[in-house]
Amino acid sequence: MNSITEQHSAAAASVAPLPWQGAVWQQLCASLQHNRLHHALLFVGEEGIGKTAFADAWAQRLLCQETPTSVANGCGHCKSCQLFEAGNHVDFVTIAPQAGSAQIKIDQVRALSGFVYAKPQIASRRVVMITPADMLNMAASNALLKCLEEPVTSTFFLLVTAQLNSLLPTVRSRCYRQIFQMPDWTESTGWLREQAALTRFTQDELTEALQVARGAPLKAAQLLERDQLSHYLTARHSFYSLLLGTSQLGTSQDGVVSLAEAWSSDDLTQSLRWLATWSHEAVSHLMATTVALQTRGLSHCFSPSGEHTLLATALLEVGFNHAPHQLLLQWIDREMRRLSRVSEEYDVRMILDWCRVHAEAIFYFYQHVIELLAQIRTGANPNKQVTLEALLLRWQALVDARQEE
Ligand SMILES: [Zn+2]
Repeated sequence: MNSITEQHSAAAASVAPLPWQGAVWQQLCASLQHNRLHHALLFVGEEGIGKTAFADAWAQRLLCQETPTSVANGCGHCKSCQLFEAGNHVDFVTIAPQAGSAQIKIDQVRALSGFVYAKPQIASRRVVMITPADMLNMAASNALLKCLEEPVTSTFFLLVTAQLNSLLPTVRSRCYRQIFQMPDWTESTGWLREQAALTRFTQDELTEALQVARGAPLKAAQLLERDQLSHYLTARHSFYSLLLGTSQLGTSQDGVVSLAEAWSSDDLTQSLRWLATWSHEAVSHLMATTVALQTRGLSHCFSPSGEHTLLATALLEVGFNHAPHQLLLQWIDREMRRLSRVSEEYDVRMILDWCRVHAEAIFYFYQHVIELLAQIRTGANPNKQVTLEALLLRWQALVDARQEE
């Protein structure tokens, strides 16, 4: 089955559930023990919190020949566990997009039919893992439906996704949905500190990575391991600088072109995901500013002589759930001062209106990025440089146009 196991990445390294997954693990063990385990489990949750690692551990547990009755992991020493840990188990298959593709295609699912309906060879069960399941294209989803509708008692499906809504509703409805919650901050930082591969990083770097990853520990670890953190921070700084017109890269179009050029060596999907995150972040700053103005009042958010730290404090006081970004604060604060110069005093209505108009415009930008990501997911292959240039010009124009009003 090797032709469809392209991305059985490092399954061997993670055979135990992660520290924050204990409750889910125990729940599934109980179902298994009472013969009530659904033949198709759909693991749902944010990206980077360890759903695939859990699926790996659970697959090994299902295949283990020691058939543990408690909440134990796979034993690690039976023949089945050894083959699994070597990434070479005949009763286990992983389906993922093939190299260079953003889709799981019908041929990959069709190739399963021989596997799904045959008897296990070594273990007492067979396991099919599909990750990320949201990358199944329409034809592949329909082919999979057949397997899900005519289950074989000894075959189990594990589907993993961070994008539940991208799955065909009929596929979703034939699976048992297992939700994975975001681990809490203390648990995540503790886990990051314990990772052997991350010992070269300081506590501040771990914290920064976790902030960038919005609390998802595996995503944070990946940023650090791939030395992407500083690249990410620099890219984000350039992007927000366009709002302030203080980009180090020059002004207007030149700056945008060279920025797009600098980013075009990255994977386009990754750049788009970052743009989606940053524009979403800008919208949430504007929304939180609105809430702060409405609940705390103008004098607690802005004062003619104050720094933008006053706005930062106001945002945190109204429950803004992560550290406000300094460049975004600087931008909002600067625009407030500009507005107040026009009207010769701070006018809360005018500021609220500015926030609303900009939140809307940036939200449309965000939606546009999400649409581009969806198009790539369904097979589109746009030119990187052209796409990034168009987006950055749009981002910049959005701000410039508003300033001229
Ligand atoms: Zn075992």
